[in-house]
Order: sequence, then structure tokens, then C-alpha cells
Amino acid sequence: MNQPLHRMTCIELEKDSEFFDTLLEEVSQLNQLQQQNKDEYMDRVKRLGDILIKVTSPYKKDMYTWREIFQLYLRAEIFIGNTEADRDEHDLEFTQKQFKWFSDELSRTDLPRKFKLSSSKEAFHEFLRINNDLIMMKQFQYINKTAMSKILKKHDKRTYLTASFKFGKLLKHDSYFTGTMGKSLCHVMNKQLSTITPQIEDHTCPICTFIYWKPIRLCCGHVFCVRCLIKSERKKMRNCPICRYEDAVHKADSSNLDIPLQNFIKLYFPREVKAKREENGRQEVSEEMEIIARSQFGGNECHIM
Ligand SMILES: [Zn+2]
Ligand SMILES: [Zn+2]
Repeated sequence: MNQPLHRMTCIELEKDSEFFDTLLEEVSQLNQLQQQNKDEYMDRVKRLGDILIKVTSPYKKDMYTWREIFQLYLRAEIFIGNTEADRDEHDLEFTQKQFKWFSDELSRTDLPRKFKLSSSKEAFHEFLRINNDLIMMKQFQYINKTAMSKILKKHDKRTYLTASFKFGKLLKHDSYFTGTMGKSLCHVMNKQLSTITPQIEDHTCPICTFIYWKPIRLCCGHVFCVRCLIKSERKKMRNCPICRYEDAVHKADSSNLDIPLQNFIKLYFPREVKAKREENGRQEVSEEMEIIARSQFGGNECHIM
């Protein structure tokens, strides 16, 4: 009486092991493909990085256009976030949404048309292709993951076994499905792209929030623009405005001018420096007018200038 039932169970188990073998092989093939894609992709990111170093150079005409594009790109946070709290890989839907926002902004601002060098135009197209390809890889990964989980669920439903739970656990440790690879790719890209072109936020005076023009490095290491320190000194503020290092402002003189930083700023931010100098000029005129009006000319000892 028990014979047919026993035979049926045997067949199911045979099929089951075959099923898992096939599934595991598929997963390992997908992993291989993904690894291949990853290596090729990393090479392309590296090659693009090398080209970008050349085309974004301050000696070339496209530095400002590149900088504006990178600023938009970083703001879009397409693959991963920029903040410490948001370092995880974004999901496919979010990535697609943010990439669309970035593309729309590019069309709205018409930035790509501002490139003057043909090498910049080529590099920009490769940059877009690299982004598109990564999105496609994510899509591919997502489809496979969904398919795998559907296959396992169907298997469980038919056999009353819990393969999806156990197999799912196995897949969790698999680089193909954890997304760590996508994350590392995004890291390389974000890091490479953001460090290639210096950003103005990293070179602004903490007092006036404009670009450092004539940057004065105080003995404590903090840097401010010369105008802000002169104003502080006039207000009898002798200590560093950030760390309160005693007499740091009062003791500063022309030897505190950070010449390498000044040259760097002149090279990378010529437009901002020009604007800042014009602003300084306007301020000086109005200050002189004020002094004349108050008839307090002289008496202000200034160590910095
Ligand atoms: Zn300042
Ligand atoms: Zn300080």
C-alpha cells in the first residue's frame, strides 16, 4: 500500500537536487558575468578619470562647465548618497528617478552645449554612457533577483518545502545579490568625479563665506580672507574666530599669507576671485568714505596689510 507514495517522494527529491544544481549553476554564471562587467566597467571609469584630469584642467577652457555639471551630478545622488547617514546603494527606482532629474537639469541649463573642446564633448558622452550602463547593470541584477525569488516561491508552493528561505539566506552572502559591487562602483565614480575638480565650498572663508582672496593662515592653522581679519582686528578681536587661539589674529602679518593656496585659488577660481576683488574694492571705498565722514582718519594700526 505504501509503495506508490514512497516512489513519488524519491522522484521529487531527485528533481529537487537537480533543480538546486541548475539554480546554483545559473547563479554562478551570473556572478561570472557580473564580475566580467565589473572589471570592464572599472577600466572604463579609470580611463574616463584620466581623460577628465586633462579636460577639466584650469589651463583648458571647459573647467567651469565641468564643475557645474559635477555639482549637479553630486546633488542628484544617483547611485549613493553624499551624506554619512546615506551611504547605502539607492534602489533601482530611485536611481532612475534621480538620473532623469540630472538629465532634465542638463537640458534645462544647456550645460553640455557650453563645452568648447571636442575632447570634453567626447568625455561627457562617455560619462553619460558609463552612468547608463551602471543603471542597466542594476536593472539586470534586479530582474534576476526577482526571477530567482519567484522560481523559489513556486518551487516551495509545489513541494511544500522551504527552499526560498534557505536558498535566500545563501544568496544573501553572494556578492551578486548584495549590491556591494554596485556600491563599490558608485564609490569609485563619485570619488573620482568629485575630486577631479575642486569645489568652491572647500575654499571659502568661514566669516564672509566668499572665496578666500589673499588667504591668511593663522598660527593655529585656520584660514580666513585678509579683509575679514582686518575687520576683526579693527573690532579688537584678537583671537582666532574659530578656535579662539589667543592673539592669533593680532599677531598675523604679511608672512601669514598662504601663497601656494592663493596661487591655487587664482588658478581654479578666476571668476570668483575677480568678483571678490571687485567686492573688496567697493567695500574699501565705502569704508574710506565712512572714515572721512567721521574724521577719524589714521590711528588704526593694522598688522596684516
Ligand atoms: Zn572672509
Ligand atoms: Zn584657529
